Amino acid sequence: MFKRIVLLGLALAIILAACKAPAGVTPTSKKGRVPLAPEGTLLRKIQDRGKLICGTKYDIPTFGYLNPKTNQVEGFDVEICRAVAEYIFGDPNAVEIKEAISKNRIPFLKEGVVDIVASTMTINEERLKEIDFSIVYYVAGQSLLVPKNSPISGVDDLKGKRVGTVKGSTSEKNIRAISEKKGLNIEVVLFDTYSEAVAAMDAGRVDAVTTDDIILYGFVRQEPDKWKVVGGRFTVEPYGVGVKKGEKELLEVVNTVIKELKTSGRWKEIYKKWIPSDVVPEPPPDDWREAK
Ligand code: GLU
Repeated sequence: MFKRIVLLGLALAIILAACKAPAGVTPTSKKGRVPLAPEGTLLRKIQDRGKLICGTKYDIPTFGYLNPKTNQVEGFDVEICRAVAEYIFGDPNAVEIKEAISKNRIPFLKEGVVDIVASTMTINEERLKEIDFSIVYYVAGQSLLVPKNSPISGVDDLKGKRVGTVKGSTSEKNIRAISEKKGLNIEVVLFDTYSEAVAAMDAGRVDAVTTDDIILYGFVRQEPDKWKVVGGRFTVEPYGVGVKKGEKELLEVVNTVIKELKTSGRWKEIYKKWIPSDVVPEPPPDDWREAK
């Protein structure tokens, strides 16, 4: 009889042990949805730290903008950072936003200054050699910002003109290529940030500023009496979240979050909140090569 009770107890203990979650899949918090990642991965480092460090811009009203009224960074890119933090920790505020401008966002990922970058960054072959990218979360296109009274109405009017843009951007490469191809002899003037380029245009030092339309529309929204966007979209710029190469657990988390934003309807809410447009389109396809 005693032997039977011992055996029964033993069997029960084995069954209970088998039912318990195996090591490595303990949730990090009651509300977070990500199992504890293996030691040595960047995702695990983030989980142990208890917050995500995300690089965004600080001077782009639509995507990443340090609002002087609230002292908070806000915009489409910031919403992506918060959604990733919410997924990992169950808390959209478990995130530290750091400024990552165009020329330092890839070095910041490589050096571990930030965990992810959501900074109006276009996915392309060249950058994919250095970092990994999430699926596409927005598609922009390069355009021109000019003073309201400017006669410039498109790239062909830029012959011999001074055009401001930013170091480390696709905008610089694209405008140089267009100038070369069309023989426009554009003088490209480089700045660290787009707000500096716009300030230079305000001071009459450049005739136009070129970058993604959605960045330019942000400046128009801030000073509608001063600027206008002209020339239409002359490139396709699919935005992805940058992640250090090889951190597949973190990349998977970011991709899951973007997928959920797109399918749940939240992507449309974010779009409506930050993009100055009357119509809210369908979310873009995941694959950057399919971006239009
Ligand atoms: N999306 C372009 C890029 O990634 C231009 C905007 C920017 O500099 O962030 O280079």
